[in-house]
Amino acid sequence: MKSVIIGIDLGGTSIKLGLVNISGQIIQSLEWPTPKNKSYHEVIAVFGQMSEQLLRETVYDWGDVFGVGIGIPGFLDFSTCTVFEAVNLGWHQVPLKEELERLWDVPVLLENDANTAALGEMWTGAGKGASHIICLTIGTGIGGGVIINGNIYHGVNGSAGEVGHITVKEHGGRSCNCGKKGCLETEASATSIVLKTLEQVKEASGLLKEEYAKQGNTITAKSIVELAKLGDPTCKTIIAEAGTVLGKALANMCYLLNPELIIIGGGISYAGEILFEPMSEAFRSFALPRLRQNTAIVQAKLGNQAGIVGAASLIHRNIN
Ligand code: ZN
Repeated sequence: MKSVIIGIDLGGTSIKLGLVNISGQIIQSLEWPTPKNKSYHEVIAVFGQMSEQLLRETVYDWGDVFGVGIGIPGFLDFSTCTVFEAVNLGWHQVPLKEELERLWDVPVLLENDANTAALGEMWTGAGKGASHIICLTIGTGIGGGVIINGNIYHGVNGSAGEVGHITVKEHGGRSCNCGKKGCLETEASATSIVLKTLEQVKEASGLLKEEYAKQGNTITAKSIVELAKLGDPTCKTIIAEAGTVLGKALANMCYLLNPELIIIGGGISYAGEILFEPMSEAFRSFALPRLRQNTAIVQAKLGNQAGIVGAASLIHRNIN
């Protein structure tokens, strides 16, 4: 009898695959590196091997699987169920659904990875019970998922929620991968926080300088968050500045969407109050009372499991 779903979180560096029950709990999961510079057939082969191993490690077989949901780091074409483009994977026009349904003989559903993160949080995480949600994942870039009336809003060609490229700085902004300058993700992503910290490391405190030397004259975003929590003033200020930029951008988004919940995830969200306080303050000062009164800004709960859970929810939402 069918009782489980496979959720796949396909990333540029790793593939996470999990067996999820109909309550949204992960029963078992695997994480393998993403094949580099290989065709999509190679990735499909890895999906095949991982799913076989996952089922072998549990008491389930394909007869128990409702279907497979996959979060993709790129643009999807929902009219043809193909991956239109996934730059980090070097994919263009990939008929992933069709190929995988032939391989597994169960339904396969695709969604953009920022959207699966939002769906995951709504199913079992910070968004449980809410149906108007903006979910931001602050990582290498800034991904956004917009949920209206419980459903992901895709827009005319699947580009809705690409909030990372909202322009927040008209003059003097950094260059973005998208070709513009001063995007939200060039001012507030983990990547931009690292760049700003590296620029300021010479004038920094002992704590940051020490860590910078220890890591071979560089610094990770994770360390910046940890140092900020230990009280390093440079790291704290840089994260707080990102919070202010985010808070203002979130207020602007709320004028359009009037959500009940804004969920912030990704590595930088672990900075907690150092990020959330300036973010909430900026949000309050730029959003009208009527808009901000019923909008809560909260930290994501599922961490790096949101992708698997959200991918599985694509299938779960279609089980009656
Ligand atoms: Zn951009």
